[in-house]
Amino acid sequence: MPERRARRPTAAKRRERGRRLAKRVLDFLRHGKDWRIFYCNLSQKSQVGRLLDYDGDLLGTVFFRPRIILADYRYDVLATVVHECLHALHQYTRELTIQAMERDVMKTMTPDEAVELHMLMAKRLGTAAEFQARLTEMLNEAL
Ligand SMILES: [Zn+2]
Repeated sequence: MPERRARRPTAAKRRERGRRLAKRVLDFLRHGKDWRIFYCNLSQKSQVGRLLDYDGDLLGTVFFRPRIILADYRYDVLATVVHECLHALHQYTRELTIQAMERDVMKTMTPDEAVELHMLMAKRLGTAAEFQARLTEMLNEAL
């Protein structure tokens, strides 16, 4: 009888992927050059001006130049930052795959990794004034 190939990754494979990606996300936040994280209320469209085509349920986003991750602080910023880091690491991977990767990471992350993730995020968080400065920089480059 021919072997039947699984169409979806098995639970074991997804655990493995979660573990591997969790380490990569932590590495990215340890060493990712110049990346900054800013918290914002993404329902206030004016805050991010014309940069975002806001669709009403955005929890975060990533800009590659300058290197910015935005996370809406009203929601789960840990999962949002993991999600946006995965976008930064896999620039051409489609949204649904990134969402699956995020779920795998969040399911398999250890408590110590979550602690380190919080600490690394804290080091990269910027104030609203810094965010404004980076936005200005980004807008000037776009002109
Ligand atoms: Zn996404």
